[in-house]
Amino acid sequence: MLIVMSHTATAADVERVMSAVRARGYDPKPVPGAERTAVCVLGNKGPVETAFFEDLPGVSQCIRVTRPYKLVSRETHPEDTRVDVKGSVVGGGNWTVIAGPCGVESRDQIFRSAEGLAQRGIRLMRAGAFKPRTSPYSFQGMGEEGLALLAEVRTQFGVGLVTEAIDHENFDLVEQVADMIQIGARNMQNFSLLRRAGRSRKPILLKRGLAATLDELLMAAEYILAGGNDHLILCERGVRTFDDYTRNTLDLSAIPAVKKLSHLPILVDPSHAAGKSEYVIPLAMGAQAVGADGLLVEVHPDPERALSDGRQSLDFKQFDELLARLKR
Ligand code: PEP
Ligand code: MN
Repeated sequence: MLIVMSHTATAADVERVMSAVRARGYDPKPVPGAERTAVCVLGNKGPVETAFFEDLPGVSQCIRVTRPYKLVSRETHPEDTRVDVKGSVVGGGNWTVIAGPCGVESRDQIFRSAEGLAQRGIRLMRAGAFKPRTSPYSFQGMGEEGLALLAEVRTQFGVGLVTEAIDHENFDLVEQVADMIQIGARNMQNFSLLRRAGRSRKPILLKRGLAATLDELLMAAEYILAGGNDHLILCERGVRTFDDYTRNTLDLSAIPAVKKLSHLPILVDPSHAAGKSEYVIPLAMGAQAVGADGLLVEVHPDPERALSDGRQSLDFKQFDELLARLKR
């Protein structure tokens, strides 16, 4: 349930409502809005009796939240959420392009990547230092050494860093360096990682699982918001279907659906959806057309030599074409 306060409600009124919610054995979570505050009631197993709260001073109305996710729901928070990632605001009508290689591979590779991106006005760079790979024999990322290179690159080029935490154990390390922490598709339902992300103060980028429904994605997002971190951005990166011609099937319908259900920003990753660089630009155009908040796209200075995801990575010439077409 959502207890909406009137715009004249005082801080003491809100506190009284919070106490009343606690007294009933539930967990209150204030949700500040542009015009008024609401208090979301969490932790109830069944319906909550509105009569306990609707006559308290400062309460305007009690609304039953009909979705299983609450904090993530647009019912709870009608305005679009905007997430500030190192000075770049994602969501709320802004279009953001986060680009970079799949992984940090060497000093030379990551410096060339960052330089090329900075020259093109890209302010947020993606690159994994820890890589979740299907095969244990594939390149696993440079780990801590990769994080140190990322930190150097930020100092030199001023780009914000989006990099993945693949488990609970390396989250602290990643958190120290990242400007936004990515939780990858394979970890969308890693609940201890989601809880840890909920305790972080850094923005989180949560990617849709390989075969996750939108309800599952939004419930995973709920873990992070319920944990206290509302700097959250979602990412559609394609799901597994019967067709394997492309690596995954980009679910463009997820974008308007998530926009209806939730206030959170959602990016599209056309690279992991396509698996082949020649399909990245058309999918990116589609993402823009259906109202995504931006892209997470793989760009590599020399895709043929990439240690991971080279086949789907754009080189800088292709990236220029993408930027020109998006602008048009
Ligand atoms: C990635 O972004 O490089 C990645 C591993 O993506 P996903 O988790 O979507 O497969
Ligand atoms: Mn990748």
